[in-house]
Order: sequence, then structure tokens, then C-alpha cells
Amino acid sequence: MSRPRKAPDPTRHTPCARCHEAYSPAVLWPEGVICGYCYMAAKRFHGTCVICQHDGIVPGITPQGRTCRTCSGITLNVGCTECGAEEELHSKGRCWRCVLKDQIRQTLTGPTGQIPDKLAPLAAALGDMARPNTVRAQMH
Ligand SMILES: [Zn+2]
Ligand SMILES: [Zn+2]
Ligand SMILES: [Zn+2]
Repeated sequence: MSRPRKAPDPTRHTPCARCHEAYSPAVLWPEGVICGYCYMAAKRFHGTCVICQHDGIVPGITPQGRTCRTCSGITLNVGCTECGAEEELHSKGRCWRCVLKDQIRQTLTGPTGQIPDKLAPLAAALGDMARPNTVRAQMH
């Protein structure tokens, strides 16, 4: 899965504030220049913020632990435009659950673009399944 990294190039790039390698920079965060690899890693890092206890994406790194976007001052586009979930986005600004829901809808709809009445309960059930809170609630 992992693509081979391009060699760092100190003659062209400022070393990354996190990995200290001169990879091609992706963003400028309060701590300094962040390379594309560290940026992707931060975007995927889930946890609990050590300052406000926010549970979600915690891109900030402090000596005390990870911090959320608000506390770290890091701007990161990780909110799904459809459901608002803090997730790594799958496509067009939406999380994979919303993309999945859309695919279910498209699969079940006929040429009219409407879900046939007899398939509506199935579509709803599949949509619910795609929602993380529902899945979690059922496990209790
Ligand atoms: Zn880096
Ligand atoms: Zn926080
Ligand atoms: Zn979503």
C-alpha cells in the first residue's frame, strides 16, 4: 500500500518540524513547516485531546500529549460536509459512511432515481448500519 517516499532534498525544502526530513512541505502549522507525510499522518490520528478531552482527530503534538484542532491552532479539513463527522474524508468532502450511503441509494434506485417502496426499509436499514453511533448503540 505505502508508496515509496521521494528522497528528502535539503537544498530545496525546509526540514519538516515533525520528522526533521526535508520532504516537500504540505502546510505551515504553528510548530513550523509540515511535510506531506506528517500531514497525512496527523489527519488520520484519532485520540483524546489532553487539554479539552475532545475525542476525535488530534493533530497537535505537545510534551503532554496530543491536542485537538481547536487547542493546537491547527486548521485541518476533516469534517464531513454531509454528517459533520470528524473523519478522514473519502471523496468530495464526505466521510466513507456518507459515500457508502450514497452508493447504497444509487444501487437501489431504479431509472427514476427513486427507491422503490418495497426496498425503502432495506435502504433505511443499510443507511443506519453505516452510522457509527447506531452500530455502537447496538453493541451494548
Ligand atoms: Zn515530516
Ligand atoms: Zn482540545
Ligand atoms: Zn459523513
